[in-house]
Amino acid sequence: MQHGTRPGGIEVIAGVMFSGKSEELIRRVRRAVIARKRVQVFKSHLDARYAGLYTLSTHDGGTVEAEPVDCSEEIMGRRRPETEVVAVDEVHFRGLPFGPMPTLLAIAEIVDKLQAICVVCGDAASRNQRLVNGRPALWDSPTIMVGGRESYEARCRHCHRVPRHDEDQTALL
Ligand SMILES: [Zn+2]
Repeated sequence: MQHGTRPGGIEVIAGVMFSGKSEELIRRVRRAVIARKRVQVFKSHLDARYAGLYTLSTHDGGTVEAEPVDCSEEIMGRRRPETEVVAVDEVHFRGLPFGPMPTLLAIAEIVDKLQAICVVCGDAASRNQRLVNGRPALWDSPTIMVGGRESYEARCRHCHRVPRHDEDQTALL
């Protein structure tokens, strides 16, 4: 999303949930729109939290809406030839690196890592605590549980828990 004269830059907004990543992405999208860049925004089809939030007005009377996609290949297929800025929300959705995030962090020109507040102790939070039925999710729980009663909260390194089956409440990270 860089705004220089040569295209091709990558910016990554990383960090724990509730740290304001989407708000920061929206701020940068707004800035690009003000700069009269042609922008497309994509988000995971799994995440319906931001419905309508990305409806931004452009200088020519149009609007920018987040388009739900299933995978990065779909983004490439739907990118319009005239698009100058591509914004993607939620390329990564867990406390462990998986999917494209390690590669993106390695090749990006700009990386910003945001922090939230630990709900247990109040320190700066850098981890997503996954809870299943109110307890820390086990190490080998499925990455995406469809229909499971799961929730997330921001925690610091010391309060983050990923128990295995054979041990209770022992942090592995
Ligand atoms: Zn803490």
